[in-house]
Amino acid sequence: MELVFATHNNHKVAEIKPLIPSSIQVKTLTEIGITEEIPETADTIEGNALLKVRFIYERLKCNCFADDTGLEVAAINGEPGVYSARYAGEGKSAADNIEKLLGKLKNAPNRTAKFRTVIAAILDGKEYTFEGTVHGLISEMRLGEKGFGYDPIFVPDGYMVSFAQMTMEEKNRISHRGLAVKKFAEFLTAKY
Ligand code: IMP
Repeated sequence: MELVFATHNNHKVAEIKPLIPSSIQVKTLTEIGITEEIPETADTIEGNALLKVRFIYERLKCNCFADDTGLEVAAINGEPGVYSARYAGEGKSAADNIEKLLGKLKNAPNRTAKFRTVIAAILDGKEYTFEGTVHGLISEMRLGEKGFGYDPIFVPDGYMVSFAQMTMEEKNRISHRGLAVKKFAEFLTAKY
């Protein structure tokens, strides 16, 4: 079976592809020639994952899935949350987003946070969602160079290193996206 992954983010493709059963061929938007930006205008993570997967399904009528992730920081009422990608403003970089977040948390005694991913899938015309969460702390400075987004400042519970200091395999074993994909992969294995 072919499954289209509704993302333009190559880091996500690299993380997710190895976790999907090998009997299923994951196709990226680039591979099927879709270059349009997919709207992310909902005000929840679930809503955005569904928006993205419906956008692709309406065009292609194929089996497809999308993921949406937010970093929720307790001391600032769950910010950046659904606005994680554009926290420092439209067109700003991941480094800008990190700088803004570290600025907001200067001297904050509570640095607890969680990453939450929702995967939305449309399979044989039916919608499904799968969720994964990882708890951790926001470090005081950037640690490591691997990964993407907020990885350099997220230290998962039980670890002394950030996601950006882990190999992709280590991150996948415990991460929000890894956990959501694991549920999705188990569902796919049982269904197909
Ligand atoms: P998206 O809407 O799922 O693309 O995620 C929103 C933003 O959250 C991204 O632009 C990244 O900045 C951040 N993000 C998503 N997943 C991760 C991750 O695994 N590590 C670090 N940051 C992430």
